[in-house]
Amino acid sequence: MTNTYIVADDNTGEAVVIDPADDGAQISGEITKQNWHLAGIWLTHAHFDHLGGAAELADLSSPPPPVALHPDDIPLWRIEGGAAFFGMKIDPGPEPTIELKNGQELHIGEYKFQVLHAPGHTRGHVMFYNRDEAILFCGDVIFQGSIGRTDLPGGDFDTLIDSIRRQVMALPDDTRLLSGHGPQTTVGQERIYNPFLR
Ligand SMILES: [Zn+2]
Ligand SMILES: [Zn+2]
Repeated sequence: MTNTYIVADDNTGEAVVIDPADDGAQISGEITKQNWHLAGIWLTHAHFDHLGGAAELADLSSPPPPVALHPDDIPLWRIEGGAAFFGMKIDPGPEPTIELKNGQELHIGEYKFQVLHAPGHTRGHVMFYNRDEAILFCGDVIFQGSIGRTDLPGGDFDTLIDSIRRQVMALPDDTRLLSGHGPQTTVGQERIYNPFLR
């Protein structure tokens, strides 16, 4: 029930997987089919349902791609993303080696992404923003008509609302929001219809 995104530059063949939620073999198969090569795994945050496919995906990739995560979510990553909390057990995959920070610039081929730190759902939650394409991979910060839950360890409602106002609502209305769960939406649509932002 979690969205995984494969983002690629078709000219260079470089691909990045954002939140390999599950079934690393399927994700790897799709990348191979497109003749892309996996240059990285970017995690919006360390909840287990966003990285359950990372281990298998990395095993099937050579060389194994570096994993990027905000340091404030490393403690959560170390307890397998809270899987035990839900009675599950996962292999979180390769240890993150890219420490994300707010304002950092990342690349997928020619495409530029800015890291936006947006705590509240978890402490180290980040979003990936491409201004030229008007796309924000926003993880579990905001959904169509809803926002991320804040009742899990590290969650805080006021912090999340503040993150949304500063880091999401400051973006142009036509920015597409690609969330960790559910369908895509836009900043403008959520500005009008999201009941948590009234
Ligand atoms: Zn989450
Ligand atoms: Zn989630």
